[in-house]
Amino acid sequence: DWVEAELDDLEVSGDHGDDSGPLPVVAIVGRPNVGKSTLVNRIIGRREAVVEDVPGVTRDRVTYEANWRGRRFTVVDTGGWDPDATGMGLRIAEQAQVAVELADVIVFVVDATVGATDADEVVGSVLRQSGKPVILAANKVDNQQLELEAAALWSLGLGEPHSVSALHGRSSGDLLDEMLDALPETPQQTFGTERGPARVALLGKPNVGKSSLLNKLAGEERVLVDPMAGTTRDPVDELIELGGRTWRFVDTAGIRRRDRELQGADFYAAMRTRAALERSEVAIVLIDASEPLTEQDLRIIGLVTESGRAMVVAFNKWDLVDEDRRYYLEKEIDRQLVRTPWALRVNISAMTGRHMDRLVPALEKALDSWSTRVPTSRLNAFLTELVQQTPPPVRGGKQPKILFATQASVEPPKFVLFTSGWLEETYRRFIERRIREEFGFAGSPIEVTMKIRE
Ligand code: GDP
Ligand code: GDP
Repeated sequence: DWVEAELDDLEVSGDHGDDSGPLPVVAIVGRPNVGKSTLVNRIIGRREAVVEDVPGVTRDRVTYEANWRGRRFTVVDTGGWDPDATGMGLRIAEQAQVAVELADVIVFVVDATVGATDADEVVGSVLRQSGKPVILAANKVDNQQLELEAAALWSLGLGEPHSVSALHGRSSGDLLDEMLDALPETPQQTFGTERGPARVALLGKPNVGKSSLLNKLAGEERVLVDPMAGTTRDPVDELIELGGRTWRFVDTAGIRRRDRELQGADFYAAMRTRAALERSEVAIVLIDASEPLTEQDLRIIGLVTESGRAMVVAFNKWDLVDEDRRYYLEKEIDRQLVRTPWALRVNISAMTGRHMDRLVPALEKALDSWSTRVPTSRLNAFLTELVQQTPPPVRGGKQPKILFATQASVEPPKFVLFTSGWLEETYRRFIERRIREEFGFAGSPIEVTMKIRE
């Protein structure tokens, strides 16, 4: 008996959670009918559900803001993703998987009066492998006599079953306390200064000006040699203060050493680039603006895209470009970077110092985009409107619907659309483009995938 309702109240209160940072997320998972929505009502204090009939998109109410003992958090009811679940084996595992991706804590609800079913076992194994804190709620334990049934759920291998009666409220306070204890101090996805220096990979084919740029940046500012990384003789990374913030330029030893042979060999160059990307959050791809863009430049851009890192493309040696050629060069560059229109661009000169002051804001913007989380409410409200204006193309006489969308992760941002049918690639691209326009992900790759309800 799932109730459709308006989208969550985060939106109504005008609080998108981004002023005080993202709230920790608790996901409620479990088979249909185990009592998930009853438990959610219990957690949020039995709010009246409002039924809204919006043609085109099912606006299931799935995320709520909750507060327990003064601690605010977001509750996601995965039951709302799939109101008429039938033959749910695989799908439930999928739901659990998405819950794991987006949540800080998972509450796994099992009907203690039924016991662990095959589907419960499947969910249990997904959750065990996740490494995320899981609280096992043995629901429908309405009285003392049923405690024994709850104890049988130890068999799921998820630790102690917490018996509760969502309907009558029995022990639900204890369950909430347990949940609160498991919540991290700060949600999983916080990023930035708290986590230490932002890590930058400075990439580019030989002779584009990597060491010149590094010298320029390090020369003007204070360079710190990180005692942790590498040996004292040959530090791997350099910490450079720029714009009031410390940045870790990774693998600068490789740049300073000027290992021409190694850099020249494609295979090693790609390996080194991949390794640097692995350790970084944002990449500066340096390109020589005084020469035509080469295969190698595009390959490096390809490697960054593949890595899912934020990206700033810096056209160096801009001082060598004639005034009258600049306009045409910009157009040419647009054309060649058509696959990564989202990359931020700056035109600099490591020699003269031209526009060096634009580099740091570009890095900051790219990192910011990379860790942006769009609240589920805003995302769904936006998509509801978008789909109404431009519905997905009909396929096989059927109009696919977007049932629910969520941003499953950040760094990079990944969106999952839960749909009732296949969305054409062109339509998904359209959605991706519109998400970019609406929420601004300049400098960051984003991913939009769909999960289809069969
Ligand atoms: P969901 O599909 O997992 O969201 O399950 P619901 O919350 O819709 O609950 C399914 C049914 O179980 C409803 O009829 C609820 O009233 C009932 N139910 C939920 N929690 C309890 C409980 O603690 N005890 C009992 N006896 N019934 C419950
Ligand atoms: P790397 O191999 O990528 O580290 O490139 P280097 O920093 O060694 O630079 C290669 C050559 O390009 C050197 O001769 C630099 O002086 C020159 N160079 C670097 N940046 C600029 C620039 O902005 N303008 C001009 N005109 N020359 C530059």
